[in-house]
Amino acid sequence: MEQTFIMIKPDGVQRGLVGEIISRFEKKGFTLKGLKFITVDRPFAEKHYADLSAKPFFNGLVEYIISGPVVAMVWEGKNVVTTGRKIIGATNPAESAPGTIRGDYAIDIGRNVIHGSDAVESGRKEIALWFPEGIAEWRSSLHPWIYE
Ligand code: UDP
Ligand code: MG
Repeated sequence: MEQTFIMIKPDGVQRGLVGEIISRFEKKGFTLKGLKFITVDRPFAEKHYADLSAKPFFNGLVEYIISGPVVAMVWEGKNVVTTGRKIIGATNPAESAPGTIRGDYAIDIGRNVIHGSDAVESGRKEIALWFPEGIAEWRSSLHPWIYE
């Protein structure tokens, strides 16, 4: 089953959006496979966002991610990468549709509350980076009520 890495960024934690965000993924039917509350250091944040290291916003982005604790999660389900990105909404909250997390809870692109992997392969890499100890093996008893 497909997995994705989802992170509630420091602004989402500070603003008390943790429960609301987790709830949206849970209610959709996705399965929580890993979760940790963690403050990361600069080298770690730079590694997570390595693909963006040439971008002009890179330093500000790293400062933002290390500015406080984040909630790092692994969610599992059919098409969870693509659907997770839809639940999150467009990168720039000015363009995220209402009903999405960023559309409902964010205004500025540099304070957009949440991260989600953009592909299955980047998800795999991000999960390995954030959860080197591995993740829980379990299957929800709701499975047959969610999947036909
Ligand atoms: N970002 C920013 N300014 C920009 C573009 C991106 O501050 O002009 C930040 C924003 O927090 C975004 C993150 O960098 O979520 C990673 O950018 P990416 O293009 O990967 O967007 P995402 O995958 O998070 O939607
Ligand atoms: Mg991205």
